[in-house]
Amino acid sequence: MIISERFLSLLGKHDPDDLDRQEGTIIGTWPDLTLALMNDAWTKFANENGGDVDAWCLGSCILHAVPKILLSFYREHFEMVLREDRPWEHTYECSSPDEQRLFHMMVFPLSAGQGLLMIHSLQKTSRLRGATSTSTVDEYEYTDGLFHQCVHCRRVRRADDINVWDWLPELVRLPRPNTSHGLCKPCYAFYYCDGRRTVPSIISTVDPIDVQDDMT
Ligand SMILES: [Zn+2]
Repeated sequence: MIISERFLSLLGKHDPDDLDRQEGTIIGTWPDLTLALMNDAWTKFANENGGDVDAWCLGSCILHAVPKILLSFYREHFEMVLREDRPWEHTYECSSPDEQRLFHMMVFPLSAGQGLLMIHSLQKTSRLRGATSTSTVDEYEYTDGLFHQCVHCRRVRRADDINVWDWLPELVRLPRPNTSHGLCKPCYAFYYCDGRRTVPSIISTVDPIDVQDDMT
């Protein structure tokens, strides 16, 4: 575990040895959302998923890892946990090239708003079904040189039809450096709109889901 010595005193009932034995990734932050704790599973997950572990150290702000489109959502909820001194939970998708993966995140307040503890655990995996695009990767590159990938399902937006997002495992395995991350309409509707009740086994990019116009 990597931890700031000052942060240890905030953990209270959360035993640091227990946190380090968990399979789920766990981080702790100060109220300004800079890193104060990373458990061993976090380092392992980052290494296995192409994360730049060396770029993340104590004092790094976790919001730098959050796509712009989700910044206000996460910032508002973290501030709520600190302000109201009560936990918050959230389920989100972060799929690999072969599997759809759903993660559960629990965020606990520490010592009456002096810090946050965030525990991520893998909730569900299922083999990805549905069509893999037969188009070439080049056909997804926009005229400004960017690829647009959904931060959750990791589908890629077609350059010739901005309303369609296709599954290209190749771009999940080896993301292009010139990739812009956003949310496809189904993920936005499913993960961030109120009233969701069921978990579909796969999210179709062509299902007619009502979303805000500004998500195009
Ligand atoms: Zn998506």
